[in-house]
Amino acid sequence: MKNFSRNGATAQRSSAISFVAPWRRCGRNLLLATLVLVSLSTAHAQSDPTKPGSHSTRVRPSMSAESKALLEDAIGVVCTQAKLDPNSSIAIDEMQARPSLPVTSPDARAGAERAQRLLPVAKSLIISSLRQLAGEYGFQKSPTFQVKLRLAIARVSDVRRVRPDMEARDNASVYLSRPHVITFGTIFLAGLRSDEGMISVLAHELMHVADGDNDSLRPLVSAVGNKASDLTGLDIHGQRSEEITCDLIGAMAVRAYIVSTPDYESIARRLARSIQHNCVELDEGDEDHLSPRNTIRAILALNPGLVRELINDRF
Ligand SMILES: [Zn+2]
Repeated sequence: MKNFSRNGATAQRSSAISFVAPWRRCGRNLLLATLVLVSLSTAHAQSDPTKPGSHSTRVRPSMSAESKALLEDAIGVVCTQAKLDPNSSIAIDEMQARPSLPVTSPDARAGAERAQRLLPVAKSLIISSLRQLAGEYGFQKSPTFQVKLRLAIARVSDVRRVRPDMEARDNASVYLSRPHVITFGTIFLAGLRSDEGMISVLAHELMHVADGDNDSLRPLVSAVGNKASDLTGLDIHGQRSEEITCDLIGAMAVRAYIVSTPDYESIARRLARSIQHNCVELDEGDEDHLSPRNTIRAILALNPGLVRELINDRF
């Protein structure tokens, strides 16, 4: 059983998970069960150093001073757009401070309709992004992993519905008892004011679905976490590596969406929406999550193409 969290930077809320058995929960609620899982996951990751994507024999990647400076500039673009863009995503610390929003409120309704409309698109995008990521990390040559990938894609394909939930506030979750449904807090639905922002969170949740309740994609997830750790110097292992992989897949999905739906808005503005809910004032992480601003840092470190596009297309 897993309890995962995504959103909210400070409070230790647990009411939203007490009445159901959550499978995946994305918020910042720190749960005992998750702590146990982190240690299990880490042990598993360390027990199989010969799989593709293992970093046991490779040269550790690093970033030049120039790349680090460009990355920080790109973060500046993302968080400046958060202030300039009328459809920017609300920062998660700001979402968390808001009062609960009824399912029937216009903003929650609009968000729910957006999420349901984009769910088929997000499913398709996450499947292609997942295949791309697996290829980039060398897993296309592993027959075992390819079987796991097919099963993961089947799980994603089975997701059918977004369910708005006032109690879930600024969280999104997939529950073991209802794997075909993404439960979405109404504050979160209303706070993601663009298709790009919504797709990034849908893709994040769908990546958890893909991984399943047995961590079936753990070799890939660990490889991503190890690379992110090397590049940033941050501790990104265990559950943190899964969360950052979900975020990375979310950003990849949004980039693919932008390519397939060109419009008059700048690419930088649209790309920024995939990660700018992390432009918080109160920058706190926990055992399972990097802090929001370090989350942006790790996503951009893993995907230098995003850095280039954010910098080059900022105006
Ligand atoms: Zn998550």
